[in-house]
Parts: sequence; C-alpha cells; structure tokens
Amino acid sequence: MTQAANPFRELPQVDALLADPRLTAAGASRELLVRLAQGCLGRARERIAAGWSAGEVVAWRDGGGPVDEVLDEVRRDRGRGVVPIVNATGVVLNTGLGRAPVHPEAAAAMAAAAASYCVLEVDRFSGERNRRDDRLSELLSRLTGAEAAIAVNNCAAAVVLTLAGFARGKGAVLSRGELVEIGGSFRMPDVMEQACVRLIEIGTTNKTHLVDYERALDAHPDAALLLKVHRSNFRVRGFTQEIEPAELAKLGAARGLPVAYDLGSGRFDPPGARALGELGDEPRLEEALASGVDVVMHSGDKLIGGPQAGLILGRREAIEALRANPLYRALRLDKVALAGLEKTVELMLAGRGDELPVRRLLTRSAEELEPEAQALARALSEHMNGALAGCELSVAPQRSQPGSGSAPDVFLDTWAVRLAPADGRADRLARRLRAGDPAVFARVHEEALWLDVRTLLPGDAERLVQAFAGLAAGDPAN
Ligand SMILES: *Cc1c(COP(=O)(O)O)cnc(C)c1O
Repeated sequence: MTQAANPFRELPQVDALLADPRLTAAGASRELLVRLAQGCLGRARERIAAGWSAGEVVAWRDGGGPVDEVLDEVRRDRGRGVVPIVNATGVVLNTGLGRAPVHPEAAAAMAAAAASYCVLEVDRFSGERNRRDDRLSELLSRLTGAEAAIAVNNCAAAVVLTLAGFARGKGAVLSRGELVEIGGSFRMPDVMEQACVRLIEIGTTNKTHLVDYERALDAHPDAALLLKVHRSNFRVRGFTQEIEPAELAKLGAARGLPVAYDLGSGRFDPPGARALGELGDEPRLEEALASGVDVVMHSGDKLIGGPQAGLILGRREAIEALRANPLYRALRLDKVALAGLEKTVELMLAGRGDELPVRRLLTRSAEELEPEAQALARALSEHMNGALAGCELSVAPQRSQPGSGSAPDVFLDTWAVRLAPADGRADRLARRLRAGDPAVFARVHEEALWLDVRTLLPGDAERLVQAFAGLAAGDPAN
C-alpha cells in the first residue's frame, strides 16, 4: 500500500452504490436508499477518521460491504412501525403489544370505515345532524343499562374530561390510597393538575373512612367532585379500608355533588357469555353502574376487547354535561375506532361475547392449552438442527397474567414450550425472534425462552414455526 493512498477516495459514490443490482432489486424507494447509502458512507468516513486504511476500505467496498449494510437497513426499516406480531408472552392484554386484538368482524368494520366515506355526524333517515357516538351510546345503554354513554380517545382522556367537566378550577376529593400511577406517565395527581383540578387528598394509604370524605367536604367548600379510582395494577392487603362506590354515591347525592368512578379495565360479562370468573376481585362494570355513581370510566381495549377508546357511562345529564365541554372536541373518538366499538358491542348484544378474542384467550383452560403446546413443540422440533441447534426443548405448565393493569394478583394456569439454548443466551434468541419475520414476542425466564400458547390467535402456531424456519436462514451473530 502506497503512502499516498487516500482512503476517502476509495469510498464509492452514492449513485454508484445505488446502481448495484442487489439494491435496485430491493424494492425500496429511491428516497430511502439515498438516505441509507449516505448514512452508510458517513459511518465509513468515521471509521477512516479512526484509522481505517485505504486497503481496508477497498476490501470492504469490493467485498460488497456497503451493499450489505444498506440492504440490512432496508430490512430493518420494513420491520419498523406498527406491524403485526405473534404474541407468545401469555399476557393477553399488553399495552406495549397493542392490547386487545379485536374481533374479525370489528376489524372488518374498522377497515371499511377507514377506506370510505361513512355516516358519522348525520342521521341518514332524517338527514339531520346528529352526534357521532349516538349509536354507540344507545348500544352501550342496551348492553349495560346505563342511561347514556360517551366515547373518547382512551380512559386517560375519559378521566381528564370528567375532571375538567365537573371540577375545573375547583377541587376533587380522592383517597390517598387511590392516588395511583397507571403505567407510563399517567399519575392521578399530575392528571388533576393538568385538568386544573385541585386535589383534596384524604385518608391514609391503607385506610380511608366515610368520615374522611365528609370532613373534606365540610372543610373545602370548593369541592366539586367525589372521585374513586380503581387500584388496577396493585392491591393493598391487611389492615385496610376503602369506601364502596355505593356509599360514595349516597354521600354525593346528599351533598349535591357528582361522583365519578375510574374503573380501568371495564370487566363486564355480556348476556350469554361465559363469565370472566378468573379475574378475582377485579370490579365489574355492572356493579359499578348499579352503585349509583354518576359516571363510570373505563378503557375500550382492556377487558371489553375493542379498539383503543375511553368510555364514560352513567346518568344522562352528567354525560350531556361532558359532551358540552369544549375539551370533548379534542378528546373524541375517530370514525375507525367508533366503527370497531359499535361492532364489538353489537356482538355482545347478539350473545356472541365469547367470540371476542380477549374473552376467548382469558378463558382458555390449562386442559385445552396443553395439547396445543405439545403440538407446537412437535412442530418446532423439526428445526432442532437449524435455528434451534443445541436447544433443549420441552413442554411445561406455566402461569401467566391477564395484564394491562387488571387483576394484578391473578395468575392463569397455562402451558408453554420451553427452549433452553445450550449457551444460556435465551435473551439473544428472544431478540432474534423479535427482529424476525414474522416477529415473535416471548418470555425469557431462567435462561430459557418460553412460548406461551395462551395468547396464540388462529394461525399463529403456523406463523411461529415459520419464524423459526426464517431464523435458521438468518444471521446467528445478530
Ligand atoms: C388503564 C387505566 C387507565 C388508563 O387507561 P387508558 O385507556 O390506557 O388511557 C386509567 N385508569 C385506570 C384505573 C386504569 O386501569
């Protein structure tokens, strides 16, 4: 190698790089290829600055290094964003994995609403303007007996709208034991602050008595709302006391104040469906509504099994007051989610609640799941010489959680395929599965990868096998 050789001059030009037949055949847009090629060459310049010689650059270039790098990034780029995955974690409701898979008929209704014009804020029989969630409100009333309902973006939005609608610029009374954080940044005191509602905190972490509420109302004339929040993601045990919604409803009625109950998961057993008996003491929507509180808030994509939404059910005047609030416009639901929710509630009303994927997955028994795990293990054992070389493969009973901050102390008996790599690097296998095609999410526990069959949807077992077949072809060092 000559002294004068300048490694920078050995780098390919972007255009020359993109003319490579492997890249022209990659099916990626020119815009993306240019961006990735520039990035690739930028990294090469950094390596040169750090000491790469001209000879090393030539070897990299002529060995197809730049094309390999760009192709690799094209593949990664395709797998980003919202893409379907196989959920083998056993956790039915996982916020990170999109929570509830909706019923195929709800999915079809959502696709149809998205792809065309639709009846949204007009009554097609009278031609008059109406409200976008009139139909959903009617369906929810028929299903639950609530006088009226309103749908917003998610349960967090439902809480914000309720707080702002009833207590903006005033105070709301909440037990110290219910000042919860629901995953991420949803912390009750912060949400109240953002809604311009003063928190009137009462009681203690473990015990709050009715007299605490009464005293707070006597001491704080600006109190405008009594709030109850379900402790979705934790339980308090031992020397505890909390006020039941019915008692709160009575107090609110006596003092002329609205009472709101954030229920969270929206556990509800529709007529004719098998009860979700597995969920322990997770409160029920039926009981929350019957307690007499003015409004109950819950998510549409937790135990209801619909698309992302926040539902507020309750007394007609209370719901109308929320609908009249200017914030409603900012928080309301879009036509796609509305179409999916209408279909989900219609299925429940038609006695087809057991068909909803979330209910089906949550109620599958261990007896039902064991043969599925055995069959999956048999199918995977055909890959023992490929992607699973050196893996120990077995089938074992497991326990999984419903997830998404519901029933935190409930564990469902389930069955899983256990894969223990010889090198103990189950985390690496999990990473490759996540990056694979189709992408698979599984549980890593005690140096083994666990594929829990509870959360496999129709066709997922075949997709799982396909994912492992794809791994064999992939780069094991990745
Ligand atoms: C899950 C939950 C929320 C937030 O619901 P999102 O639909 O995710 O906004 C609020 N409150 C309670 C009690 C919850 O369980």
